[in-house]
Amino acid sequence: MSEIKGIADLIALLPGYNCGECGFRRCADFAAALIDGTIGSEECPFMHQNTFRGRSVQIAELLPTIVSERCEPIVGVIDHLTADFALAPLPGEPSCREDLHPFDSAVHPETGNILRYRPLGCPITHFARVIAVDHGIVTVHLIGPRHRLGGEDDFRYQEVGVCMVLAFEGVVVRGRVPDVGETVRFLPEHCMMQKVHSGVIVHSEGDRVRIESIDLKVF
Ligand code: SF4
Repeated sequence: MSEIKGIADLIALLPGYNCGECGFRRCADFAAALIDGTIGSEECPFMHQNTFRGRSVQIAELLPTIVSERCEPIVGVIDHLTADFALAPLPGEPSCREDLHPFDSAVHPETGNILRYRPLGCPITHFARVIAVDHGIVTVHLIGPRHRLGGEDDFRYQEVGVCMVLAFEGVVVRGRVPDVGETVRFLPEHCMMQKVHSGVIVHSEGDRVRIESIDLKVF
């Protein structure tokens, strides 16, 4: 199966200096303008250097694929709302990262634990593996519904009840890379309901974003 090329591949073809010489603050913004068709790759002065020889041709070959994929609206299954982008796991990770805050102050998840919980506002019970705990915030990788975990005796989990989902972290794979401070609609690729979420971008670097103030009420 051929690999799907995306915005990350386009950004990777740019110099990555984030110098602003092209009039854009970051190479990712320049990439967004390339996709919009408002500029050409030659407007980055470094693309003329030997170091980046051949990159313009690679960009020209890649752009039609990205543009056609971008024209496909990203629509949630439940509400039929349109998202600004879809969020995929960071490279090598099994799902987007989620930051949780359990309401039950008596539970103390530890790294490596498998948690069973229900996100506030979501009707689906989740299973997730803890990858970090810091000041009451529990960072997890979603594992999914119970059947993906194996048989009844194959695992133990910690019941933590309802949790507030505070943040998501991952990479933008479809749609546009947002700026810090933007309120966005996004679709986590691992979401079992394929429901559009909303939040505020607090970190954006290349195609990697961190979104906080997560809400399932999207208008
Ligand atoms: S695209 Fe080129 S000019 Fe623009 S920020 Fe990146 S390196 Fe600098």
